[in-house]
Amino acid sequence: MPVLFVGHGSPMNAIEDNAFRRAWGEIGARLPRPKSILCVSAHWETRGGVRLTASEAPETIHDFYGFPQALFDVRYPASGDPALARRAAGLLAASDARLDAAPGLDPARGLDHGAWSFLLAMYPEADVPVVQLSLDTSRPGEFHHRLARALAPLRAEGVLIAGSGNIVHNLSVLDLDASAPYDWAVRFDGEVRRRLLARQPEGLIDFESLGPDAALAVPTPEHYLPLLYAIGLQEKDEPLALFNTTVSSSISMTSVLIGAGPVSS
Ligand code: ZN
Repeated sequence: MPVLFVGHGSPMNAIEDNAFRRAWGEIGARLPRPKSILCVSAHWETRGGVRLTASEAPETIHDFYGFPQALFDVRYPASGDPALARRAAGLLAASDARLDAAPGLDPARGLDHGAWSFLLAMYPEADVPVVQLSLDTSRPGEFHHRLARALAPLRAEGVLIAGSGNIVHNLSVLDLDASAPYDWAVRFDGEVRRRLLARQPEGLIDFESLGPDAALAVPTPEHYLPLLYAIGLQEKDEPLALFNTTVSSSISMTSVLIGAGPVSS
């Protein structure tokens, strides 16, 4: 099964007809049909351990404010997959990432918009079960890359693993009226893209080493770290395609598809 990193951007991308959403729909229609989805979203942070959703019927979480009612009315009624949650927990527990505690199963947690915003376009019938894995944002990039490696066997079992965040994400300086992106945002996105295409995970895992642009592009790590789950799962010589390569103000939508052909949108 291929692997994705999705730049999700504004929650409005879930319901607006735009190029980002069209690309998500195209990918959903084209990829082999997954048995289940395991999503690592920027919007579920835990510290001192990781957790997995283990509800049979995860609720739709509206974890934002200040958006139109239509967005709060969205429901994404995909079922959960507690068996996958247990399987993934076992794989993570056996990883070499030095977890602080055994991975926890959370029967109450639902799906946040980092997951359902793009899944609504990819699988509008919500007929593929979804499990989310939390992000322990107290841990460095290397930890997340190692966890990703541990999840690799799931690909052969028909599980689509998708990180969801944004490579550049700095809301403190976001200007929705800006006519051009910040220079540092373009530079950082370009450097990450260059390393992705050149298969140079070193500066991607320890992104802080990329200098002052990294400090501006990644002021907090939660939107960047999901990328490391995608690149950690890339096998040797496996193709990597970029899509939605747009930088606006202080947000990059650049997204990655591994193990499949290019995306036309
Ligand atoms: Zn987000």
